[in-house]
Amino acid sequence: MASSSPPVHLFFLISFFAATWLPVESAYIAYNTSGGIVAGKLNVHLVPHTHDDVGWLKTIDQYFVGSNNSIQGACVQNVLDSVVEALVADKNRKFIYVEMAFFQRWWRQQSDVVKKVVRELIASGQLELINAGICMHDEAAVHYIDMIDQTTLGHQFVKQEFNQVPRIGWQIDPFGHSAVQAYLLSAEVGFDALYFSRIDYQDREKRKDTKSLEVVWRGSKTLGSSADIFTGIFPINYEPPPGDFYFEVNEKSPVVQDDPLLFDYNVQERVNDFVAAAVSQANITRTNHIMFTMGTDFKYQYANSWFRQMDKFIHYVNMDGRVNVLYSTPSIYTDAKYAANETWPLKLDDFFPYADRTNAYWTGYFTSRPALKGYVRVLSGYYLAARQLEFIMGRNSLGLTTDSLADALAIAQHHDAITGTEKQHVANDYAKRLAIGYAEAEKLVGSSLACLTESVSYSQCDNSETMFEQCPLLNISYCPPSEVDLSHGKSLAVLVYNSLGWKRVDVIRLPVISESIVVTDYEGREIESQIFPITSAAVNLRNSYVTAYLGISPSVTPKFWLAFPVDVPSLGFTTYFISSRKLAGSKTAMSTRYSSQEIQNSNTLEIGQGNLKLQFATDEGMLFRYFNNRSLVETSINQSFCYYSGYEYDAHRANPQASGAYVFRPNGTFPIAPDRQVPLTVMRGPILEEIHQQINPWIYQITRVYKKKEHVEVEFIVGPIPTNDGIGKELATQIMTAMTTNKTFYTDSNGRDFIKRIRNYRADWELQVNQPVAGNYYPINLGIYIEDDNTELSVLVDRSVGGSSLLDGQVELMLHRRLLHDDGRGVAEKLDEVVCVNDQCEGLMIQGKFYLRVDPSGEGAKWRRSTGQEIYSPLILAFSQQDSGSWTKSHVPTFSMADASYSLPDNVALVTLQALEDGSVLLRLAHLYEAEEDKKLSMMAEVDLNKLFAGRKIVKLSEMSLTANQARDEMEKKRLKWRVEGSASTIVPVRGGPVDPSKLVVELGPMEIRTFTINFDHMLPKINTEKKA
Ligand SMILES: [Zn+2]
Repeated sequence: MASSSPPVHLFFLISFFAATWLPVESAYIAYNTSGGIVAGKLNVHLVPHTHDDVGWLKTIDQYFVGSNNSIQGACVQNVLDSVVEALVADKNRKFIYVEMAFFQRWWRQQSDVVKKVVRELIASGQLELINAGICMHDEAAVHYIDMIDQTTLGHQFVKQEFNQVPRIGWQIDPFGHSAVQAYLLSAEVGFDALYFSRIDYQDREKRKDTKSLEVVWRGSKTLGSSADIFTGIFPINYEPPPGDFYFEVNEKSPVVQDDPLLFDYNVQERVNDFVAAAVSQANITRTNHIMFTMGTDFKYQYANSWFRQMDKFIHYVNMDGRVNVLYSTPSIYTDAKYAANETWPLKLDDFFPYADRTNAYWTGYFTSRPALKGYVRVLSGYYLAARQLEFIMGRNSLGLTTDSLADALAIAQHHDAITGTEKQHVANDYAKRLAIGYAEAEKLVGSSLACLTESVSYSQCDNSETMFEQCPLLNISYCPPSEVDLSHGKSLAVLVYNSLGWKRVDVIRLPVISESIVVTDYEGREIESQIFPITSAAVNLRNSYVTAYLGISPSVTPKFWLAFPVDVPSLGFTTYFISSRKLAGSKTAMSTRYSSQEIQNSNTLEIGQGNLKLQFATDEGMLFRYFNNRSLVETSINQSFCYYSGYEYDAHRANPQASGAYVFRPNGTFPIAPDRQVPLTVMRGPILEEIHQQINPWIYQITRVYKKKEHVEVEFIVGPIPTNDGIGKELATQIMTAMTTNKTFYTDSNGRDFIKRIRNYRADWELQVNQPVAGNYYPINLGIYIEDDNTELSVLVDRSVGGSSLLDGQVELMLHRRLLHDDGRGVAEKLDEVVCVNDQCEGLMIQGKFYLRVDPSGEGAKWRRSTGQEIYSPLILAFSQQDSGSWTKSHVPTFSMADASYSLPDNVALVTLQALEDGSVLLRLAHLYEAEEDKKLSMMAEVDLNKLFAGRKIVKLSEMSLTANQARDEMEKKRLKWRVEGSASTIVPVRGGPVDPSKLVVELGPMEIRTFTINFDHMLPKINTEKKA
């Protein structure tokens, strides 16, 4: 545009610039970032951080190297590379790093020069490793043993490489928070504080109003104040505060433009924004310290873009003087909170369930991807057992370790892994890692057992002649080593390993091809056994899933199940033999099988030859009565299925929230009545009895009662859930009794403490009920129970699921979910799992079990705890074919690591026994009962280590913190004692005393877990040289 007269407004513009130029030199500015805490001022702690999911939209390795960026532009290598440079550039800058799975990957690729620099940054506190497990584990669908293992793995790395002990729990993203996280994985780890962001939106509003976002959390009823943890909940989320403070490259937030030669100078505006954000947060926070979480998912890929802005904020805001800003870490922040000597509100129980807004309860993920959840649980128990054998044999003595399984399991605890909230290709990646880890551990287990049976000298173990096979697909009736023809004089040795610290009597089941079979123990005595036909439902599942998993079609189809009782010593094995039957009058009984239609004169059917009896109404196909001859418990009971139709996403509705991988939002409940056209099938025999029901075309159920067990085992095959009607479905089973339970039920926290739940009620605020089903769902890892004056009903599960008690007298479990809409929380995929065989895909079927029992009121704990351990640690079976009769001449048929007469007390479990790389051994013992949970068992227990480790001498025993990275007494000395509002409770927890090295007896109080490192005089295995003839 051409113009001859100068416009008037140009003059004003020039004067404005002239005015702002005056006070500022346009040159290099040395930002003063050195500010520390200033007393009497509001202190804003800038905590630079990145939240790096160990797999979510991309796999862990894709996130690390920065590939597959069309899904998400994220590269953790860039983060760590650039953070190190940015920290070196200014010693006042600080950064925290959290996920050791990424840090380990990065660390092993660094040069010695970089490693030296990083060691210095860590030693000086500029770079602080916090939380520092392999991942930031989930808190709902994880078992406490897995939480401990994955945190220990990270903490051991941090200790070994950097000699550091992480001080802070940083669970910023998990979808709700567990009591076990608070008292066990925080206080007992030695953390000084725990921080996170996701709590119910109604809870958050009340806490903001009452300045109660920061609390002292007492997660354990039993351990009381001795396991308190200071807990900070962020006001909104783990991102920078409102007001545009995001500074990744390409971010929209205005940068601080402080060069007067350039346009858009904005120092004062940005200082004002910052002060406003600080004052706003200070208004809901106690003390004059607030934290700004400066970062979010996968940020700091070019770290300087953040640090440059934070340098300027610290410089200019401190010049401004209204508030004080400093580079900080959660440790510095926690120390400042502690120094303020404030009293804090007390928080009990936990933070489940989590809703982020109306109608959006994140209770679907308690069940999402039930097959992955089941796989993790199975391998968790297997890993525990494999580590025992690794210890018994000596670490790495066979050239094999459990390390890769450890790693895969650790990664799978991530809050987008076991939760089922990852994309399908990422779920596949977790499963692949688990399968690889299992394969190596399976070899170690097989070789260890071979060595222990061969009674050769230790040095010859790596070339054992015995080969043991195992059957990881036994749950779908696939076990090639047992499906063999034994008619030509061969027999099958079945070695049964028990990883529990107690002698165990149980029944094992194997698929076989012939009914002419005899089972003997290692002394040649015939064992009573039972044969029953494999149903077509089981065969169909087996054939299609073996093909899907292994890419092969099974060459034979077993016709029968063989069941027989086994009696196995603690921490050891025994051997049984299966051979073809030659003599008449054997103790192998063929089950009688008939259908309910064949029953004349009765519409009632009873199973159970022992104390427990179940009665079914044949016309309705329903269980209706439970009776125990010993305890005289009798109750009416029925069990049924229903599905919830998943709410569909519809942008035109007022609240368009869909049901998806995270969120459970039912849109109606639909009972599934058993198909009356399909009769019940009954199988009877001397060991167990079963009722088979095809409930509908996609639900098959077996209700099983063992003669010598007093609980019901329910096995289900569910799927493919049909969606051809365009409706996603979430399948639940309901167990209904006439009990009067007053809205109350109990669910476990990570398989450990039971927490009281009251329907439509929260202790911390007045609950506005908008989702009467989803809002009453809780995570279940061990079990759920209800009770009234007379009886209690307990249900135990084989993996994590969601569950509730939606009516008095009722218990509900959600078993499977298949949904057709994304629920809008980032994963951007529908939860629609399919399995493909030869390019033919159909919805995922799952097979699983739950267990139920009714006890007189107050007597259910013993069953829940003991059977819970058996479910977590199933017997391990290993098979070897042999020429009949020769085995016991050349093999050791039975073994126990412990003294033959020794068993752990009924209230104690061995949760870790692991040979560490430095030659020491990690031992964890867990008391299984809460205070007052059981009349006899909620008391101090004693474990005699000399008897537990028969044949080895303990030369050194050190009690450690939970993750074994510091001495227990050091940790106790450092523990911060926080002051709590109101009258302090007077519970004095019972804890075991110090271990006398001359006696080596460990005491454990209720719910106590004690961790030790042990050095033995020798690490060679105890070889049993006594051969049985
Ligand atoms: Zn996350």
